Amino acid sequence: MADDVPVRDQLEFFRDLGVRDLFVDRPAAPGVVTGSTPDLAALAKSLEGCPRCKLSKTRTNIVFGQGNPKAQLMFVGEAPGRDEDEQGLAFVGRAGQLLTKIIEAIGRKREDVFIANILKCRPPNNRNPEPDEVASCRPFLDEQIRLIRPRVIVTLGTFAAQAILGTDEPIGRMRGHWREAKGVRVMPTFHPAFLLRSPERKKDVWEDMKLVRDFLAQNPK
Ligand code: URA
Repeated sequence: MADDVPVRDQLEFFRDLGVRDLFVDRPAAPGVVTGSTPDLAALAKSLEGCPRCKLSKTRTNIVFGQGNPKAQLMFVGEAPGRDEDEQGLAFVGRAGQLLTKIIEAIGRKREDVFIANILKCRPPNNRNPEPDEVASCRPFLDEQIRLIRPRVIVTLGTFAAQAILGTDEPIGRMRGHWREAKGVRVMPTFHPAFLLRSPERKKDVWEDMKLVRDFLAQNPK
């Protein structure tokens, strides 16, 4: 069809031919997630310059998350802290070092798993994420889960468990019990930052991680 035909006439022409679906071949605007991203690299690219919420004004770096794109095991924390915001990587501060030990305790390496957060940008002064920020960022996490398709998601802390499972149950009741979200098994456990303040709860996390280790041993990808 000639370029000078008005768009409306072009659309009506195709409608009259019976065309019902229209695919627009144009890169998505920053911060737009389509739900059919081909891979994690494309998803990370679509996050570049994301303006979807007010954290875009205060962040230094977007923290997409990192690890094995085909991981059996995915960890989801709350939001980047100062170290993560500076480096653009998830769980690289003190809590992250403890998370590395937790991963190694079940015989895996950090590179084997995928580590992400509910929010991809740091809330100022590490305040709690706000509902509009969670809602803006959620499609990116959902897309990460769809692309990685892990066997198990371990949520770290109250906030991640409540956000992924859509509940307001306390973490003390949820931890150590299998749940399910988006067809994936979810194991809620305590956040490593909490363990730094309350090391006596490390044994609970060890119990939770043994369940994860044993399930993965019996159900490899
Ligand atoms: N705490 C989190 O929840 N996520 C990080 O990436 C770092 C600390």
